Amino acid sequence: MKLYNTLTKQVEEFVPHKKEEVTLYTCGPTVYNYAHIGNLRTYIFEDILEKTLRYIGYNVKRVMNITDVGHLVSDADAGEDKMLMSAKKEGKTMAEIADFYTKIFFDDITKLNIRKPDIIQKATDHIDQYIKMIKKLLEEGYAYQAGGNVYFDISRAKEYYQLSGKKEEDLLIGVRDDVTEDKNKRNPFDFGLWFTKSKFEEQEMKWESPWGLGYPGWHIECSGISIKYLGEYLDIHCGGVDNIFPHHTNEIVQSEAYLGHKWCNFWVHGEHLNDKTGKMSKSKGEFLTITLLESKGYQPIVYRFFCLQSHYRKQLVFTYESLDIATTSYNKLKSRVNNIENDDMSLDNNIIKNYQNKFKDALRSDLNTANALTCFYDLLKDNNVNNNTKLYLIKDFDKVLSLNLLDNQQETSPVLEKEINDLIKEREIAKNNKDYQKADQIRDTLSQKGVIVKDNKEGTIWELKK
Ligand code: AMP
Ligand code: ZN
Repeated sequence: MKLYNTLTKQVEEFVPHKKEEVTLYTCGPTVYNYAHIGNLRTYIFEDILEKTLRYIGYNVKRVMNITDVGHLVSDADAGEDKMLMSAKKEGKTMAEIADFYTKIFFDDITKLNIRKPDIIQKATDHIDQYIKMIKKLLEEGYAYQAGGNVYFDISRAKEYYQLSGKKEEDLLIGVRDDVTEDKNKRNPFDFGLWFTKSKFEEQEMKWESPWGLGYPGWHIECSGISIKYLGEYLDIHCGGVDNIFPHHTNEIVQSEAYLGHKWCNFWVHGEHLNDKTGKMSKSKGEFLTITLLESKGYQPIVYRFFCLQSHYRKQLVFTYESLDIATTSYNKLKSRVNNIENDDMSLDNNIIKNYQNKFKDALRSDLNTANALTCFYDLLKDNNVNNNTKLYLIKDFDKVLSLNLLDNQQETSPVLEKEINDLIKEREIAKNNKDYQKADQIRDTLSQKGVIVKDNKEGTIWELKK
């Protein structure tokens, strides 16, 4: 399997530490708000990675954290805790906020057919682990205390800039706007391991520690949970590209300082989903969630299909127009699959192997999901493959694609149905008023949603495109 490794900046052959098992750590959500569909793009790519590894024969042990404390408004240790900010805004405790948004996060990933990681751990459940690590980092001179807080001293890190591939000066420009200078730090990129005193005094969740009542920094949480559940040698660590610096950079230096050896060989990052303004935001503009898409009549699984059509390392721009196109293609694809009737012919093993190899090759080439889909379309139109074999392969490919392709019913959600019926009524009115231009426009809108409108003597009926 070949994967692009952010650490070496090249596509490399992936080799796990153990022959048959892959340990995979994926940064989880900060549960202070809903996940937007950009966040969910990252979880979709990680799901494809995990399922591909399983498909090609590995056991995968995957861990994900839930960040429920310590992630400050700026990733560079400035501002309030995001959880606290949300708790104050909603008049709830941080724990209530965490429970609420964690539950919704799991509902969202279920709707997108994302497999729940084997091990999911809350940051607040591992305070002892962070304290143990921070103690050792202090003993060995990798960390220092200042102003009541404990910081990692990045001057002790050998290759602090390797993962980001950027120079200190460039990174400084990147964070300057974001950061209010913390006078306790010896170096601007030193980062907080444990906070007791600071402008974050109001922090609601605090724990006893050798350095006083306080709470952990965000970065130590992922290192701590990963090392506790996946051991000293990690095969793959994932996240979105915004995690490269400072989060993953800091995870590397503190983990390797603590362990005394190299920690993780493969760092795999997903590019962002942007909206038309250039950045997906939880505060400005329309807050794009899966629930919002559903309320507009879109099936969540179509969003997964939309993501799989492009490469995880390419930026993707979200528009409703492109989601409409994806809806039409998805409905067509699904109805083509539904029209394949089992002919009870015997399975053709050579064909199965051939197609599986093509499908694997696409995914093994740095998760080329678009080519994997092409392989799927090739199968559908291949007249040399009997239907039984086709159905077998579709089921097999869907272990990775997870597009519900063999569910017989075309899903029209109640919301979509209502929207279609409303448009049909509006079209009727337009026709009665002899406003044929408007009637045609509505027909086009429906067509983009994958709906065919048929007028007959009794009135208008509609069906989803085959
Ligand atoms: P957070 O909940 O903010 O900790 O982020 C959860 C995950 O979403 C992280 O892996 C981020 O790197 C990723 N992420 C944040 N914004 C985007 C975006 N616009 N597109 C794709 N992934 C994102
Ligand atoms: Zn993380």
